[in-house]
Amino acid sequence: MEIFNVGNNAVNLYLLKTATHLLLIDSGFPGTLHDLGRELRKTNIKIREIDFLVVTHFHPDHAGLIQDLKNESIKFVILDFQVPFVSKMEQEKERLLKVRKYTPLIQKDNICISLHESRKFLNELSIQGEIIATKGHSEDGIALVLDSGQAFVGDLLQENMAIEMNDQNSISDWKNLRKLGVNTVFPSHYGPYELEVNSE
Ligand SMILES: [Zn+2]
Repeated sequence: MEIFNVGNNAVNLYLLKTATHLLLIDSGFPGTLHDLGRELRKTNIKIREIDFLVVTHFHPDHAGLIQDLKNESIKFVILDFQVPFVSKMEQEKERLLKVRKYTPLIQKDNICISLHESRKFLNELSIQGEIIATKGHSEDGIALVLDSGQAFVGDLLQENMAIEMNDQNSISDWKNLRKLGVNTVFPSHYGPYELEVNSE
């Protein structure tokens, strides 16, 4: 599998390319379709070739372009517990979304799966891994964890920061990630890094 970062200076957008499928993790701010197109050109991948999109959580820099990408024929996969957070984002961030030309998300044609079904779904894309819930950054947070140890964690606080700040939700997220054997972390707002081996 190949991992591309097709993001911009606001947010990393990770694109997983397997022998059979393309899965995009996070969509970027509203109105940034052009930026995504430009980054994709560097990889020789066309927007319409991307099969599926998931978002790590519903904040505008991650979930602002979902409907625009659906309109380009990308299928959007939402975790069932994330559903209420769509309208929450659209209500709370209404002003910001208006300024940035947000296209409201149509719910009815999304593919809604449970965490339980995530391994089967990923398997169909030739991806060995699963999706877990993370509560550290936001209630609707998810991390996509590959069996080979790479984890796409969105805005989850770094583990050492979480410990320093005694942020119990994030600490428990990191425990779960370590349990799954995570060794490389792909965050949304800085570059990938190796997770230090825990001496505990
Ligand atoms: Zn966020």
